[in-house]
Amino acid sequence: APAVAQKRTTREWQQADSAHFLHPFTDHHGLSSKGSRIITKAENIYLWDSEGHKLLDAMSGLWCVNVGYGQQALIDAATRQLKELPFYNAFFQTATPPSIEAAELISSVTPPGFEHVFFTGSGSEGNDTVVRMVRRYWDILGQPERQVIIGRVNGYHGSTMAGASLGGMSGMHAQGGLPIPNIVHIDQPYQFEHGRGMDRDAFGLKAASWLEDKILAVGPEKVAAFIGEPVQGAGGVIIPPKSYWPEIQRICDKYGILLVSDEVICGFGRTGNWFGCETMGSKPDLMTFAKGVTSGYIPLGGVAVGGRVAKALIEQGGEFQHGFTYSGHPVACAVAVANIKLIQQLKLVEHVRDDVGPYLAQQFASLRDHPLVGETETCGLMGAMLLVKDKSTGTTFPGEVDIGMVCRGHCFANGLIMRAVGDRMIIAPPLVMTRAQIDEMMALIRRCLDLTL
Ligand code: PLP
Repeated sequence: APAVAQKRTTREWQQADSAHFLHPFTDHHGLSSKGSRIITKAENIYLWDSEGHKLLDAMSGLWCVNVGYGQQALIDAATRQLKELPFYNAFFQTATPPSIEAAELISSVTPPGFEHVFFTGSGSEGNDTVVRMVRRYWDILGQPERQVIIGRVNGYHGSTMAGASLGGMSGMHAQGGLPIPNIVHIDQPYQFEHGRGMDRDAFGLKAASWLEDKILAVGPEKVAAFIGEPVQGAGGVIIPPKSYWPEIQRICDKYGILLVSDEVICGFGRTGNWFGCETMGSKPDLMTFAKGVTSGYIPLGGVAVGGRVAKALIEQGGEFQHGFTYSGHPVACAVAVANIKLIQQLKLVEHVRDDVGPYLAQQFASLRDHPLVGETETCGLMGAMLLVKDKSTGTTFPGEVDIGMVCRGHCFANGLIMRAVGDRMIIAPPLVMTRAQIDEMMALIRRCLDLTL
């Protein structure tokens, strides 16, 4: 195990933490009594806390550390760039070599037609950019009445006002007057909730038809775009039927509306292709990315811009009055370049598609023999299992039993980081994971499920 830096005792860290650090998505009542777990070191797919406990990180941090921890190529790229040129912006007709190289390299790994890249600092800013870009596009085309963007219930597109509005997280919408105007939602393609007992592909077509219903209800001439994650991540790894995305594509084409694929989680190899839309069979106009673009080593996000929108913005639109100080940050872009080259060199996309993805699918399916596990599904290196009270009837636990959090607690105490979304336990481990490490993870998962029983 790597040595653990101990400038203070764990208790001292926790006291300073609860005194000063306002955490994202955290109930601070729990924090002040129990204290945060202080994570101090990482290597490959493992983390260590301030007490020296080792944890297998089956969530890649927050779905981002695709190449695993401790990759020297990324560390060297950041160090080199920090020394040479730590910052210069890309406003007002300037650029830096890493920002140019990152844009070029990203467009070389995106599906055909994505020749341009706009950089942001995060996925949320990427989706804010999408809202402005989509509306700007329709303005340029002389259809400014196309303002409405359709997202999905339980989708997640970030935490800024626009990101949280595009998303369909009810808890977020309950705070602070969201969504902002002209953003509406359709139900998610979650068969357990909306189509139990139906043929899978028939359910996919039905779920996609909700988009057409919504377009017609809003008025097709007012709809600007549809946005969705290829596989909903934060919503609980909701994997749509194969029929869903091609049908969504057909409906968007029929009404001429822009299709936006939020690739913040699914991008950069997670689903066994470079981008989730390739796995799911859609051809979006815009793709938001973040997380895996730098494997989380440094913040970077952006929007890959397809031909139709790029042409309008570049050839017809004049100046797009939008950008961030850190759009194209040279250090972040240098890390992105090193990260993408490493994904290529290690053949991680193929590794997920041909080797560990199918292996994980097999191993996850075998969990169905466990008395708590109702259903399992995987896509590339994302997986979910639904915990149920009664397998024979598919009855879930009553509302007062937070079975997911109970299970997560056992994982946390037993060296495994898995996330709970309601009754769904989910994973998205680093793409460098080996079959032997999947076996190790599965043994931990089984142990924690037994403890949860
Ligand atoms: N979009 C998706 C699909 C995400 O999962 C996330 C974050 O989890 C975001 C957008 C927001 O990204 P960020 O947290 O970098 O702002």
